[in-house]
Amino acid sequence: MATATPKPPTPQVEVRRSRKRRRTVAAYREDDKVIVMIPARLSVAEEREWVATMVERLEKSEKRRRPSDAGLQRRATELSERYLDGRARPRTVRWVDNQNSRWGSCTPSDKSIRLSRRLQGMPAWVIDYVLVHELAHLLEVGHTPVFWQWVDRYPKAERAKGFLEGVAAASQLDIDAEPPDCSAEGAAAMAADDVVD
Ligand SMILES: [Zn+2]
Repeated sequence: MATATPKPPTPQVEVRRSRKRRRTVAAYREDDKVIVMIPARLSVAEEREWVATMVERLEKSEKRRRPSDAGLQRRATELSERYLDGRARPRTVRWVDNQNSRWGSCTPSDKSIRLSRRLQGMPAWVIDYVLVHELAHLLEVGHTPVFWQWVDRYPKAERAKGFLEGVAAASQLDIDAEPPDCSAEGAAAMAADDVVD
């Protein structure tokens, strides 16, 4: 297609060339940037092409993995029914941008639950864990043994806690953890979904 259709603003992209990388290209988000990892031997033209392709794939796969507020609310209801005997009934469940030190929060008095948008793009079982955690606060406000009994009904609770601790530690220490490779064809779906058993 020669004529350009209006596109959303292109994100800031940082290209990292790696000598170790031979055939694979990978892309992931780091803060406000998109990092594209490419083999060192690619030409400038190939680089440009891959950057465009990978940014597009990343955005598509992120879109798939970002439920809307309505989707989040539905999911919360399902999880409450499955793990909390349907007893947690939130009035609102929504994404928020202004929550940097917490993954989720809950106000029991008005039964509202908010999830940090930073969770978007993380594996669904991690988002589910944060939902179950906040839902459980509607039943038990503090982090009491009773609270954790509810939360632990969700089978991946421990694992999700570990995952989130890892993310927090990595962002604090600024560890350059290389994400799993994705082959050129396999695309940018990558990431931790692959870790699910
Ligand atoms: Zn809590």
